[in-house]
Amino acid sequence: MANCPRCRHLVEAQAIHCGHCGLTLKAHGHPGIPLHRATGAVSLCTTCAYHADDSCTFPQRPVAQTCKLYQAVDAPTAVAPPRSPRPQWRYGKLLPWLGLLGLSLLIAWMVR
Ligand code: SF4
Ligand SMILES: [Zn+2]
Repeated sequence: MANCPRCRHLVEAQAIHCGHCGLTLKAHGHPGIPLHRATGAVSLCTTCAYHADDSCTFPQRPVAQTCKLYQAVDAPTAVAPPRSPRPQWRYGKLLPWLGLLGLSLLIAWMVR
């Protein structure tokens, strides 16, 4: 459950509209697309990461009061852990040499 940002009534987390005041809570009528909404007179863009890095091309920038892509500039970002090389890759480089060694031993055994 969550609170409607306008009337503060409880609404289902997946609700598309507030059942009390009718405020739109989700973008495109889809329960999986949250519609972020500014609180007060300050636009969302002032605290948005896409405004900070100048990558937003939405026409409502920089005065958006609602936005489906808002990303708080101070929100923790998920950092992917550094990838280590896979063991198969390291041993994959040795395979041709092992094959050559095996072939050399086979030829040496055949001509003795
Ligand atoms: S993504 Fe939305 S909130 Fe962020 S800068 Fe663009 S319009 Fe503003
Ligand atoms: Zn409401």
